[in-house]
Amino acid sequence: MKLHKNNIKKIPFTCTLDCGGRCELVAWVRDGKVIRIDSPPGKPDNDHKPRLIPCLRGRGQRRLMNSRERLLKPIKRSGARGSNDFTEIDWDEALDEVAEKLRYYKEQYGSEAVLHITGYGSLGGRGFSGLSASNRFFSFWGGVTDTCGNTSSWCAGIASDWMLGDVWGSIYCPDLLNSRLIILWGMNPAENRHGVNLAYFISRARDKGAKVILIDPRYTDSGILADQWIPIKPGTDVALISAIANVWENEGLTDMDFMNTYTTGYKAYRKYVLGHDDGVPKTPEWAERITKIPAETIIQLAREYISTKPAILLPGLGPQRTMYGEQTERAYITLACMSGNMGLRGGGFAHDGIEPRGRVGLGNLPYGNYRPTRRIRSENWGKFLLDGSLDPSVRMAYVVASNAINRSSDTLSNAKALEAMEFVVVQDQYFTPTAKYADIVFPICNDLERSDLVSGGGNVFYNKKAVDPLGETKTDYWVFSRLAEQLGFGYEYTHNRTQEEWVEFFLNAEKLDDDRLKQEGVIRGEIIPEMTLAGFLKDPVSNSLRTKSGLIQITCPQAEENGLPEIPVYIENKPEFPDDYPLHMVTPHSKLRANSSGHANLWLQNIEPHRIWINPADAEQRGIEDNELLEVYNQFGKMLIPARITKRIMPGVVCIYQGTWFNIDESGVDVGGCANVLTGHHSTPTGGMAVHSEWVQVRRMAE
Ligand code: SF4
Repeated sequence: MKLHKNNIKKIPFTCTLDCGGRCELVAWVRDGKVIRIDSPPGKPDNDHKPRLIPCLRGRGQRRLMNSRERLLKPIKRSGARGSNDFTEIDWDEALDEVAEKLRYYKEQYGSEAVLHITGYGSLGGRGFSGLSASNRFFSFWGGVTDTCGNTSSWCAGIASDWMLGDVWGSIYCPDLLNSRLIILWGMNPAENRHGVNLAYFISRARDKGAKVILIDPRYTDSGILADQWIPIKPGTDVALISAIANVWENEGLTDMDFMNTYTTGYKAYRKYVLGHDDGVPKTPEWAERITKIPAETIIQLAREYISTKPAILLPGLGPQRTMYGEQTERAYITLACMSGNMGLRGGGFAHDGIEPRGRVGLGNLPYGNYRPTRRIRSENWGKFLLDGSLDPSVRMAYVVASNAINRSSDTLSNAKALEAMEFVVVQDQYFTPTAKYADIVFPICNDLERSDLVSGGGNVFYNKKAVDPLGETKTDYWVFSRLAEQLGFGYEYTHNRTQEEWVEFFLNAEKLDDDRLKQEGVIRGEIIPEMTLAGFLKDPVSNSLRTKSGLIQITCPQAEENGLPEIPVYIENKPEFPDDYPLHMVTPHSKLRANSSGHANLWLQNIEPHRIWINPADAEQRGIEDNELLEVYNQFGKMLIPARITKRIMPGVVCIYQGTWFNIDESGVDVGGCANVLTGHHSTPTGGMAVHSEWVQVRRMAE
């Protein structure tokens, strides 16, 4: 295609998908249309300020904004909930009806009769978009029932809190260039980022001679970064950790100076791994039976880990989304401590990589005085509502930037819970499965159709409106401003400013270098962060941790209070019906979507068609052929999905990427491939999501 240079405007922006990163993108605009999305050329690229290189999802935003699933006008339900029967209506009519319902439910039943669901969709900036816009709105309107909890990293957060006193492990990415061994344990930065440039620095470290080991039931795309793949049965990570610790103890390799100086309660853990209490030493042979990793591989891993310094343990968040995820996370931290790598540049333990992190200040829009009066867990909200234990009950749901049916476990219960509501409003860019359960749907702009200020990774991004909104789409801010006016708090919500005027206001108030920000789209942070626990490691007395002892707690009294052992012992993840559902299912995030955002981008979906991964041995046992349509089912639901027969997944385990859209047929079978149709409402002892402790059966359609 020949481009006429002078007619093209290049407008920088960042996408606001819920991926954990924030990257630099450039929209090429001609005649009011986005014709291409690129990453910015010619930006400085060095270790301390590497380019924030976008992934497929960001680069695919042009296709996404023009998707056939895009909502262009307000619509009203005209058929059954969950159907495609909607009619277009005017904005005024739609806003009047929603304002009227909000008034009615508040007067009749109190504001908590309204359930506010948000999150995991578009995460905008200073209170204009997505969850921040609706949180603000309800802070002026009244105390709603809200969802709470962290479906991503609940157990990681709990374990950090118990053991380290609320310290979250991150590595400053350039430090990886010092690493000599990098262990990706259930972590998949090539697909899921975990900080924009983590995969980039891992590959640079490898070029410099670091060895990379991948421990995962699947050979993920991150396998290309690795020298060795060690397949492990899901939910058995603590058994492997116990066996590594056993080898270290038997060979006198544990860094006892570190354990004696910085930790408390190690004696009990040592007794456990040596089997002094229960008579079962946690040997590599013991772990082989549980993890399916050969004992000699465990010994090799244990010796290599302890003898190579600096070594960094990078666990993903998947392993802690298992039945006893708290134990998994506690065991990771214990192992990293024992290894003697804590405090070394390029060593230790981290869940994500961070870039140079600054503190570029930005204001926030003012909030009202109301806070949610009740909160229900976001990972099992549907089941909870159906149980009917809420008094007074919830009657209306207001869903903002969230494909709530899809994104939480137990999709069928979520759909039933919305079906049972008296009135449902959905505010979204796309006609998602959740929107199909609404009475009124408001169509919303995307990142390129509105101005915003977005912060992430210590950087500030200026998203300048690049094109006019498609159809009759509006910003979240505009919708809530109109509703606020009708409900009597218009000025409090807007201060008589449009979104554009607020953006200008913040730019002036914060004295940002707004010329640079407007031209380049980003102001990068400048501060190089200290290593995790740096102060404590320098002086554990003066800089004690906010734990019970001030030290790293290998034994945790809080664990016992929550029904867990005081030390991070292995507890078997037991299937409910092992004979009926023998295959362990994992449902990881996909490089093609951020949760379910991005499903509407057919161009991306075609890159890697949605299929269930199954090992050739399991396929052969069932007479399954590659690409054949299969029935996958368990006690929670059933779906139809084609097979992908691959050695990239270990025997006994199947994988369905989460995030594809739920699409139920007349017989109650999901034909969309929504992984959460097969995940239940189980949670860990402290309430974390346990979606990687699910089992299924798979069979051919013809049977
Ligand atoms: S989805 Fe995340 S990693 Fe990908 S371009 Fe957008 S912000 Fe960057």
